[in-house]
Formats: sequence, structure tokens, C-alpha cells
Amino acid sequence: TRRRLAAGNWKMNGTGANLSELDALAKAHPTPGCDILICPPATLISRASAATPAQISIGGQDCHQNETGAHTGDISAQMLVDAGASYVILGHSERREDYEESDTDVRNKVMAALSAGLKTIVCVGESLSEREANNTLDIIGGQMAGSIPDVVTGDSLVVAYEPIWAIGTGKVPTLDQIGEVHDFIRSRLERRFGAGVGRSTRILYGGSVKPTNAADIFAVSNVDGALVGGASLSVADFSPIIAAL
Ligand code: 13P
Repeated sequence: TRRRLAAGNWKMNGTGANLSELDALAKAHPTPGCDILICPPATLISRASAATPAQISIGGQDCHQNETGAHTGDISAQMLVDAGASYVILGHSERREDYEESDTDVRNKVMAALSAGLKTIVCVGESLSEREANNTLDIIGGQMAGSIPDVVTGDSLVVAYEPIWAIGTGKVPTLDQIGEVHDFIRSRLERRFGAGVGRSTRILYGGSVKPTNAADIFAVSNVDGALVGGASLSVADFSPIIAAL
């Protein structure tokens, strides 16, 4: 059985003052029944991992595909590990859009992250126009084929389904729509990687997950947790989501 994962993506939010939220989160969940991950901005990773008890993992939100080099402003997977990260989010739709990251870019980053020893959360998801044109599964299948390298294991890969139109909008797909995509992702993983990796890889839903809708979403088959943006910034919102897992 897959251990479920509550992952918080702080995006470009948070300074040292917000570390107290992590402290409160750890105190609220001393022995959680699921894995808990917080991905703060890179500037906080080191302090967050030093200050946070082991039941909460810390991750990055992106990494460069190379180990070192002349890439001003970039951060390598090795640097994330050195700062205390054990996970990294890759291919988030905001990176794909803001930095024109392609599936190939994402795949190269995943390979770099895996060789550095990080677990990877690979994000996929359709736009509203792609959904309205009935292309959702084709888009997700293409992103998975292009963004996930051959070398993954069930332990090192997490797939996050984040419909772009649901991110930060308060709009959420129906439970049937979530189930359809998660079942599809599971079947593609099994077909490509076999039953071992296919069944042990966790699949997260992300996009306007709130305390009020978390339990319903987590009851959908093949939903193994959530990748949470806005509601991960405060313990008051994130803690009930964790409890719903
Ligand atoms: P929200 O939970 O704010 O909709 O963000 C989802 C997301 O993009 C997490 O990576």
C-alpha cells in the first residue's frame, strides 16, 4: 500500500517569519499517518530543514539540470540536498509557463534530481481550453511520456495532477473528473514501468485543495495525497488537510 503524501508548495511566499508555521505544523502532527512535505522558497530550505523535526520533509520547487556551472541564479539538485531537501517539485505549470520549460527540460531535471538522491514530484495538467476540447488525457499522457525518464522507481517518483484552471482559482474538477485522470495516470505508469513501479508510485491531486474539499478528493481512487498551494501557507488550513489523509 502507498503511504499518502500531503505536500505544501509555498511558491514565492515566505520569509524567516513564516518558519513558525512549520514549527506549529510539526507540533500539531507529532506522529502523522501520512508523509508531510513542505517546499518553501529556496532561501528558506536550509533554515527550514534545520528547524523542523523529522516527520516533516523539506523540498525544493525546481532545480537546474546540471550539477554546477555558469548558470547565474540557478540552483542544482546537489545544492538542494546540501541545504537539507529530500524532495523537489519539477515541471510545475508555473515553471512551464513562466520559463517555457518543455517536457524534455523537465525530464533532464528529474534525472539530475534522481542522481542527487532527491525524490521528485513531476507535475502534469491540462489548461481549460485543452479540457474543453476533450484533450485532457492526451495532454497528460504526452506530458508523462516526455517528462518522466525511464530510470524512476516507485519510491523516487510522485506524479502530481494539477489542472491549470484549478490552480489558485477555487475551481476544482468533479470527483469523477479527478478519478478519470488519476486512473489514467495509474494505468500509464503500469503500462510503461510494470506493476511494481506502476502501483507503488504516488499520484497527488493539486489545485484549490482546501480543508472543505480535501476529504472528498482523498476518497477518490488512486488519489494518494495532495499538492497544496495557498492552503499550505498556514497551519490552520494545512493541518485539517493532513488530518483528512
Ligand atoms: P493552490 O492550492 O493555491 O490552488 O495551488 C496548487 C498548486 O499549484 C500547488 O503546486
